[in-house]
Amino acid sequence: MNKQTQCVHSGTRPDPQTGGINTPIFTSSAFTYLGKEVNPYPRYFNTPNQEAVVAKLCALEEAEDGLLFSSGMAAVVTTILALVRSGEHVVVQDELYGGTHAMLTGLLSRFGVRYRFVGKSVQSFAAAIEEKTKLIYIETPTNPLLGIVDIREITALAQDKGIITVIDNTFASPINQTPRTLGVDVVVHSGTKYLGGHSDLCCGAALFGREHGDRLRHAAINLGGNLNAEACSLLERSLKTLHLRVSKQTENAAAVAAFLEEHGAVSAVHYPGLTSHPGHQVARRQMSGFGAMLSFELGGKAPATDVFLKRLKMIVPALSLGGVESTICDPARTSHAKMSAEERQRVGISDRLLRLSVGIEHPDDLTADLAQALGG
Ligand SMILES: *Cc1c(COP(=O)(O)O)cnc(C)c1O
Repeated sequence: MNKQTQCVHSGTRPDPQTGGINTPIFTSSAFTYLGKEVNPYPRYFNTPNQEAVVAKLCALEEAEDGLLFSSGMAAVVTTILALVRSGEHVVVQDELYGGTHAMLTGLLSRFGVRYRFVGKSVQSFAAAIEEKTKLIYIETPTNPLLGIVDIREITALAQDKGIITVIDNTFASPINQTPRTLGVDVVVHSGTKYLGGHSDLCCGAALFGREHGDRLRHAAINLGGNLNAEACSLLERSLKTLHLRVSKQTENAAAVAAFLEEHGAVSAVHYPGLTSHPGHQVARRQMSGFGAMLSFELGGKAPATDVFLKRLKMIVPALSLGGVESTICDPARTSHAKMSAEERQRVGISDRLLRLSVGIEHPDDLTADLAQALGG
């Protein structure tokens, strides 16, 4: 089946009692056990609503098994804790979601897990690998500069050394990138973003091959970050339109990126779909669409960052991303505020950088709003 069809149909468990065509919401946390081999229980990640969504996501990510979590961070931390132990070593990309960065440096380090942050090239990953390296963790496209890591190069390196690879596929979504087809072991998502897609749901997911199922499920059951039935149902409904939404958002982002690149008050545009983007060729190889996230730099002719944000009439200055509505933020003051100013400067996050999550509005309305705020 194609992804459009998987979004609508995969995993659905129609109601045999009533003939209802949707998966019913099973609110029970207690299930009878006499004469049963498997007993559903929410924190065992095996209730019907959890399993219906996992089946859909497995189809989309070409995975054999998966777990749904109450947040993206629950998915990330459970995955890492499941796969490494004290004394072992993780190689991690330095351009990384802020929460993941904070979790590695502030929490995992306390349990004796060592880590090394590296640049995006395969050479920097290769140079950081030690005898005790058990995991390579990547994120592409990156937040907020939309850097691209060559997934195939990284998985080839890892497989050669028996190292497990994990990718945070939140920015691309399974519609634009399917990392397991490029050899990645575990795909994690903040479902709060594109998978939910309406800025009203907090959830996460990990999708993987059968061989990692026992370790991940064991850690997940111990850590207890499961998603409740009502939220599973909301996510299942959202996923039915994932392809429609993300395709339109991706198309809009290309139009907005082209508009910004031509605008005299914008000094730089970071979007993997632009031929000027350093990761364009790799993105073209490993993504089926360039995604709906972009960032840009206000130039000398543009107003101050705050003035620009306040002038916007439709695009909402808001945290988070991936919703049907376009949202914008300045990473220096929001997602990357905890980084030191020097570190921000080193990775290229200036106070004039804006990150735009492009929604499903008409592209002309988006460019008109940006144009008037830039000072037309
Ligand atoms: C938001 C986000 C997360 C964390 O997800 P939550 O649902 O907020 O816990 C992880 N990775 C990326 C890339 C994100 O954008």
